[in-house]
Amino acid sequence: MELNKDIDQFDIPLAKRTYLNNPNSTLLKKLLIFSPFLFLMFSVAALRFIRNVELIPLNNNLKFEVKRNHDARILGHLPYKETLKEKLVLIEPNIEVHIDMRDSLLKMRDEAKKNGIYLVFLSGYRSINLQNDIFYSLKSIRNQEAAERARVSAPPGYSEHSTGFAIDIGDATQRETDFETDFENTDAFRWLIKNAAKFHFKLSFNKDNKYIDYEPWHWRYEGSIEALKVFESANRKF
Ligand SMILES: [Zn+2]
Repeated sequence: MELNKDIDQFDIPLAKRTYLNNPNSTLLKKLLIFSPFLFLMFSVAALRFIRNVELIPLNNNLKFEVKRNHDARILGHLPYKETLKEKLVLIEPNIEVHIDMRDSLLKMRDEAKKNGIYLVFLSGYRSINLQNDIFYSLKSIRNQEAAERARVSAPPGYSEHSTGFAIDIGDATQRETDFETDFENTDAFRWLIKNAAKFHFKLSFNKDNKYIDYEPWHWRYEGSIEALKVFESANRKF
């Protein structure tokens, strides 16, 4: 009996057990009813927040991808610095090239001659100023817009010729094909396709290039570290 009495003392008096009927308790009941919806809303908000957090680095990656893919091309041409004057050598009247490629280029012409093929050099180094004249004068002569003109000539500051590592080649026996797509049907071109790589020359604008027209006469030298550095971006796949 004594023990029961003690327990009764700790029990909550009956009068105080009416909290469920209090105005506060109706609010609690409503909260209980709506709690699944509130939970759902909170979950959606939380998910959105998490997705945003994940999207931030993803967006940065996308921006980086866009930057990388677009590099610094203008109308499909990559920027090239003018080579230093002291690195240029004259190989014949009006044809200057980078000293790194002189020996290889002359050796290639000699080798071709031994095979009965007569290569003729049409254009080597061109300064940015000269490229400026070529690009803008021809553009106006031909009544072409920049994008059209850029298919066949690089804008100033964007020509491989400014590096001294590019050479336009013709066939001495078929000069009518100089700077023409028809050059691809000459013996000189067929010989170059077979042999140019031995001398570290590579066709710059092949038929796969979607911005720049096919230029079978235009070759670039990649036989020195400096040349490889210059054309590193050009050799990176899109
Ligand atoms: Zn060229």
